[in-house]
Amino acid sequence: MKTLDAAELWGQAVERLRAEIGEENTGLWLKPVDVVSWEGGVLLLRVPNKFFSDGIKERYQKRLLSLLREIGGADIGLDFKVERDLARVLPPSDPVPEASPQSDFALTELNPRYTFQSFVIGESNRLACATAESIAKSPGTQYNPYVIYGGVGLGKTHLMHAIGNAMRRQHPKARVLYTTSEQFVNEYIAAVQNNALDAFRAKYRFLDCLLIDDIQFLIAKERSEQEFFHTFNSLFDSRKQIIVSSDRSPKDMSPLEQRLISRLEWGFVADIKPPDLETRIAILRKKAELERFSVPEDVVLFIASSVKTNVRSLEGSLIRLKAFQSMTGAGLSVENAREILKDALSADDAAPVRVETIQRVVALKYSVDVKDLKGHQRTASIALPRQVAMYLCCVMTDQSSTDIGRAFGGKDHSTVLHARKKIEKKVEEDPFFLELINKLQADIKSADS
Ligand code: ADP
Ligand code: MG
Repeated sequence: MKTLDAAELWGQAVERLRAEIGEENTGLWLKPVDVVSWEGGVLLLRVPNKFFSDGIKERYQKRLLSLLREIGGADIGLDFKVERDLARVLPPSDPVPEASPQSDFALTELNPRYTFQSFVIGESNRLACATAESIAKSPGTQYNPYVIYGGVGLGKTHLMHAIGNAMRRQHPKARVLYTTSEQFVNEYIAAVQNNALDAFRAKYRFLDCLLIDDIQFLIAKERSEQEFFHTFNSLFDSRKQIIVSSDRSPKDMSPLEQRLISRLEWGFVADIKPPDLETRIAILRKKAELERFSVPEDVVLFIASSVKTNVRSLEGSLIRLKAFQSMTGAGLSVENAREILKDALSADDAAPVRVETIQRVVALKYSVDVKDLKGHQRTASIALPRQVAMYLCCVMTDQSSTDIGRAFGGKDHSTVLHARKKIEKKVEEDPFFLELINKLQADIKSADS
């Protein structure tokens, strides 16, 4: 006896699969699916094109069949019907891409901690944040495309994730994708190499909202820039929301960059400036509260008035103090904060450093050769310094992870990102290691100046 209808059956199966494969994959693969019928023991689904039916079959069919059996109490088959009418998303002149099922897309998860609630508003970011909130409510309408400018560590990525998170909550059916321009380029290159451009296009052109972070890394790679243009145009023509961030303002860009940006500036532009003292204090209080770390008011004021360049350094200072406190159990005062943050404070207003300097200082510290850092040996005595050096390049230079990988003997950007994560974790867990990293940073700064 059937007590469920087709939509309920499918809905429950998707819910359970969601718990296993995550929000991002569910949104990309299963949200575009509509239920047509459940007849003769077969559930018929409608998908936008073959890219989806192939992709779902390959990835999830087996699991779906067993979930359907559990939920429906009998063997249930799956069948797919491809919807040909895609005018809704693609302009008529653009043929429907038939995608290859093998293509594998790396997806960036949204960071659940980057929300509007955890973002502190001040004069420096009020407009950027208000616009972002309004876009999350009604995407694709007024502020499209939306460009956020701002220096390093001022909250661009945080705001972009906040838009994505809010949009997913407010519009659960929307297909929202956050990616960095670097990832976009790498995916594009892989698609060209694997003959999978159609799949690449299908993926991007089916989105309702595309967030591309750090667009400056896309620029100067002409072919991917063109690909981005096509994607941009087709999304834009179908009134989909596009949001990009850049760490330079148009006047600091090359003519090629300006061309791209002037297209983007059809929409709405907001910039984020360094926060003023009042906002820095509010941010520190907020971060301390989120970390359940109680900091005396005079120490908050001391940090806020000493660390001025960016919010990431503010946060870094707080983490250092927390590590100190949990290590020593001592109370915090302005005096010991000054001592603990000494290196960080002197580094605060210096310019970005060079990759070569970092490699040299790290190699010296660990008594290895720079050539080893660039090599491929995996013994711990070399792998650790290599990862430390990569991490420091990520946080102290303005190079992309692709460029950093290249500077380490042609390694992949994902190797760099892996190193960064690993060292970040170690820094959080081990106060002595944190000390070491602080010391290295100070040495690098003084070696480079
Ligand atoms: P960007 O992308 O501009 O380089 P991020 O978004 O990565 O900067 O911000 C760096 C750090 O500072 C993040 O941890 C972010 O949460 C924090 N941050 C930046 N601005 C704010 C703000 N206004 N309120 C709270 N946290 C902020
Ligand atoms: Mg960023």
